[in-house]
Amino acid sequence: FPARHLQVEVSSFGIGDRLILVRDVTQLVQIEQTRQDFVGNVSHELRTPLTVISGYLDTLLSQSEMLPAALIKPLEQMAQQSQRMENLVRDLLWLSKIEATATKKRVREQVNVVALCGEVVEDLRGGYPSRTIEYKCAVRNAKIEGDYRELFSALSNLVVNALKYSPEGKPVSLTLRETEDALCIEVCDQGLGIAEEHIPRLTERFYRVDESRSFAGGGTGLGLAIVKHVAASHEAQLKIESELGAGSCFSLSFHRMNRDV
Ligand code: ADP
Repeated sequence: FPARHLQVEVSSFGIGDRLILVRDVTQLVQIEQTRQDFVGNVSHELRTPLTVISGYLDTLLSQSEMLPAALIKPLEQMAQQSQRMENLVRDLLWLSKIEATATKKRVREQVNVVALCGEVVEDLRGGYPSRTIEYKCAVRNAKIEGDYRELFSALSNLVVNALKYSPEGKPVSLTLRETEDALCIEVCDQGLGIAEEHIPRLTERFYRVDESRSFAGGGTGLGLAIVKHVAASHEAQLKIESELGAGSCFSLSFHRMNRDV
């Protein structure tokens, strides 16, 4: 028999009675694989022409004194939009890479979470010099088994969102702490907050609470989908708590099973 994908569900009724349901999901898995390959390939093919367009636009704009004044604004708009497309292609490629490796067995490394969080914060302090990003670390030494690049991108997406969706004067914090059975990384802001009905859908690709605000902040709508996949592949739990007008907290909890302190 060719390999099949089976899904098994076990339900219990009373003492000793069990219902075992076995579903053949091979076709669903194949469709999902085709979708992932398609998105990955298209994004890859779009990358080169976009880089060329952006390169020419940058060259033109760097010699703006030689251009007719009426062309400057349209060229700036074109450069801004091609940057947006480049960001989108970058995130789509990254998401399809994470999705592809999630289904395969991969080599994992010991990631020092204290250092990882410190590096994410340092990196973003450089990119957002006018903002306060606090790093509260209540753990001296903690390691988890995982993928450094994936974890870095997930945390970075959470902190960037906290910065994008809170006002300039308000700090953003990243806290690393231990609970009885987990290591918890929490990113909090004192920003807009999110209405309860949106929370369950936030990690869907391209789901946005407010389109215009997301675009203005340079968002692609894929950040939280990436976070969800990274959380799943590290057996971490993603929790979102928010209050409209007060702020939001996004946390990732790594179970003790998946860590090595
Ligand atoms: P985007 O690129 O639009 O930020 P994300 O997937 O990262 O995409 O986030 C999805 C949506 O969730 C955002 O468009 C925004 O509406 C909402 N969101 C995410 N993080 C926050 C936050 N810290 N505060 C308020 N809203 C948030």
